[in-house]
Amino acid sequence: MAQAELDQGAHFDAIVVGAGFAGMYTLHRFRQLGMTTRIYEAGDDVGGTWYWNRYPGARCDAESLAYSYSFSPELEQEWEWSERYATQPEILKYAVHVSERFDLRRDIRFERRVTQAHYDDTAGVWRVATDSGDSASAPLLIMATGCLSVPNTPELTGLDNFRGKRYHASQWPHEPVSFEGERVGIIGTGSSAVQAIPVIAGTAQQLTVFQRTPNFSVPAMNGPLDPEFVRAFKSHYREHRDYHKRGLSSGFGDLEVVPRERTPMALTAANLSDEALDAICDSYWQTGGARFMGAVADALLNEETNRRVAAYVHRKIRETVKDPQTAEDLCPTSHPIGTKRICVDINYYETYNQPHVELVNINRSPIERITASGVQLADRHVELDTLILATGFDAMTGALLKIDIRGSNGQRLADKWAEGPRTYLGLMMAGFPNLFTITGPGSPSVLSNMLVSIEQHVDFICDCLTYMREHGYRKVETSLDKEDEWVAHVNEVASATLFPKAGSWYMGANIPGKPRVFMPYAAGVGAYREVCDRVAADGYRGFVFH
Ligand code: NAP
Repeated sequence: MAQAELDQGAHFDAIVVGAGFAGMYTLHRFRQLGMTTRIYEAGDDVGGTWYWNRYPGARCDAESLAYSYSFSPELEQEWEWSERYATQPEILKYAVHVSERFDLRRDIRFERRVTQAHYDDTAGVWRVATDSGDSASAPLLIMATGCLSVPNTPELTGLDNFRGKRYHASQWPHEPVSFEGERVGIIGTGSSAVQAIPVIAGTAQQLTVFQRTPNFSVPAMNGPLDPEFVRAFKSHYREHRDYHKRGLSSGFGDLEVVPRERTPMALTAANLSDEALDAICDSYWQTGGARFMGAVADALLNEETNRRVAAYVHRKIRETVKDPQTAEDLCPTSHPIGTKRICVDINYYETYNQPHVELVNINRSPIERITASGVQLADRHVELDTLILATGFDAMTGALLKIDIRGSNGQRLADKWAEGPRTYLGLMMAGFPNLFTITGPGSPSVLSNMLVSIEQHVDFICDCLTYMREHGYRKVETSLDKEDEWVAHVNEVASATLFPKAGSWYMGANIPGKPRVFMPYAAGVGAYREVCDRVAADGYRGFVFH
């Protein structure tokens, strides 16, 4: 594709960083407001997370009918999802379709990674630079950089000595990768690996999984979508969208609208016998998907309930995995269920019953180093043709801190966030005027259906810009007081849950040296939306306009 010319001193009403679902919707809405907008995107196409994460088996763990834009009734009616959980290629196709249908591409510059964004107090603009040499300015800067977009490559001794093929799950080649006849090793057992392992096992000659911490996984119960069901669902799309937006579903896009009093949110486990709780867990297990965590209301609030739900999953693992030691190694015991993102799988546990698939518990048999031909464990060497790192991301703050962002008076975001991220509503940071983060830390973001949260943030920002226009304001910022208040509230909500009990990426615990702070807002999208709506109705309380 011929590259568009570099922007040299170009000026726009807004600059957006990232052309994933957040960036694309922002551009669409800003155009409707009559704003000139430029998106810079590091990849060579749209799609964000779905552009990068092409590992085998990659698919969404939210229902496809819910994990899609709601802003265009025509789009949602005309687009046909083929499976209950869409595959990565299908979601990427959808993203490309949206970019073409709404003619977004002409304002996007691909293969341009933003390296720098400095606020010029005198001119009242953000000055942005890319690694290709673009320079542009705009009064408004929108960070649509994604929550899981900076890969984590752990420091494993000798990693660069490996002479076989090496991949990171989130930087997968665009060409097909074959494992036929190969000895494949995979490090990590999070959502990415849990999806990839059964698919890789399908063709590899030998698959060795190096596991440090087991994760809880529930079956997806994926399958083709029934056209009759889709037709009925689409005839009530607004009702479903409203249900998802008000946070009455689990966050993964339940496809049935039920009155609040009949949702599991009204049901706590305290008065349930073990048999009754098992029956409820069974019905959620059979239905499939991450909504399993919503089977009872207090699973993430009450340690005893959590222990009982975890015990149910342990039983399922032991029933499924034939080798008793492998089954024990796969049973997570170091964190309450749900406090690390629950995985959703297709035949994950079953895969370990195949004779050519081996689980190595690296707590018992530590990785000493990576060698030219494989992995040296404390007690033996595992020969490999291919090594896959499914080792996760520097989540939520990584993408923002990779950019040299400086606000008013040259304040560096990296300094401001040295002890952990601080925002007002996950949308704005004090000292960084006219800079909004989409699904930033301090908002429901990764605990929600991202499409729901993205649209809510973009709509909030657009309403705020309209308010500014009506009142003749050119600059919006927030105050340290408001930011402190919100950070305290986010912490208070998190500490009422079991989330802080896990060393999760939600806590920054997967990255050495990263401050341990629970980053997302755990009150749910419905409660959060109400807060934002009240803030707006009160003349954008907590925001200061000039
Ligand atoms: P992850 O959940 O952070 O898992 C990373 C894995 O790598 C963990 O098992 C971790 O072990 C292991 N690891 C990291 N460093 C290691 C080291 N030095 N030695 C050995 N093991 C190491 O990352 P992910 O699987 O990519 O998933 C991240 C998030 O992306 C998910 O939680 C989810 O939100 C999202 N995601 C969603 C989907 C979906 O929609 N279906 C699919 C994939 C990802 P420890 O636990 O011991 O640190």
